Amino acid sequence: MTPQYVGRFAPTPSGPLHLGSLLTAVASWLDARAHHGSWLLRIDDLDTPRVEPEAEPAILATLESHGLAWDGPVHRQSHQLQRHHGAIRQLGERCFACGCTRRELRGLDRYPGTCRDRGLPRDGNALRVRAEAAAPAFVDRVQGDVNMSNRTLSDFIVQRRDGYASYPLAVVVDDLALGVNNVVRGADLLENTAEQLLLMRWLDVPPPTYAHVPVVVEASGVKLSKHNRATAIDNRWAPHNLATVLSLLGLEAPLDQVETMLAWAVGEWNIARVPRGTSLAGFSALAR
Ligand SMILES: [Zn+2]
Repeated sequence: MTPQYVGRFAPTPSGPLHLGSLLTAVASWLDARAHHGSWLLRIDDLDTPRVEPEAEPAILATLESHGLAWDGPVHRQSHQLQRHHGAIRQLGERCFACGCTRRELRGLDRYPGTCRDRGLPRDGNALRVRAEAAAPAFVDRVQGDVNMSNRTLSDFIVQRRDGYASYPLAVVVDDLALGVNNVVRGADLLENTAEQLLLMRWLDVPPPTYAHVPVVVEASGVKLSKHNRATAIDNRWAPHNLATVLSLLGLEAPLDQVETMLAWAVGEWNIARVPRGTSLAGFSALAR
């Protein structure tokens, strides 16, 4: 028996959702609902310098006004610190303390292994994991065969200097804890997947199925960011926003109430219609 589909949406609360993150949320919601699965919401709030207190309620309000109901409570990465540290302990001797500053590493395309054998104390330093392995290949439901095997991973950070887990470590641990087995997210995280797959191999965690949907970029080719006011989402225009996002996902939905539009889109959903490629260019403003 195939296990029940468990998907999730995991925004960083560094600002309100923009059209690109709404597209990811809609794709992940539709895929979960079309598979009669559950859709969890997790706030990825470990990147503390970027967390803005007003962001989380704004994100929840946007999801609600666009009809994207989640199952169960709102989960938070910051509630899983013990699990993160347990996983780091499990990595054992693969980890080493690194005292290199951002400035010292500036301009390098990979970590040169400076601290591997320095035996620095763990307190007050970041922890990196030894990673000579080639990036694992995987099959992505949108991007097809993803083979980054010509890219040797460099020793990456699993615990930051401030003691919090790094993004790839926390995501692997949190997805496992929530039983997430299907990840639909933005293609800007495609490269990060290699590090997550390696961590899963070392931690003996079964990898989820991946679908990396294209990232919406401006006509100029610039990725939409949370700080770009032009693409901020106005919840009063939810049906229009939804129509725009669905159209980018290959579905021409008739304008209606958001619940009706989403119900229609679940029936029509076919991930093969999502454009392959890591970005969707040419988008300039919300269509109204
Ligand atoms: Zn170092």
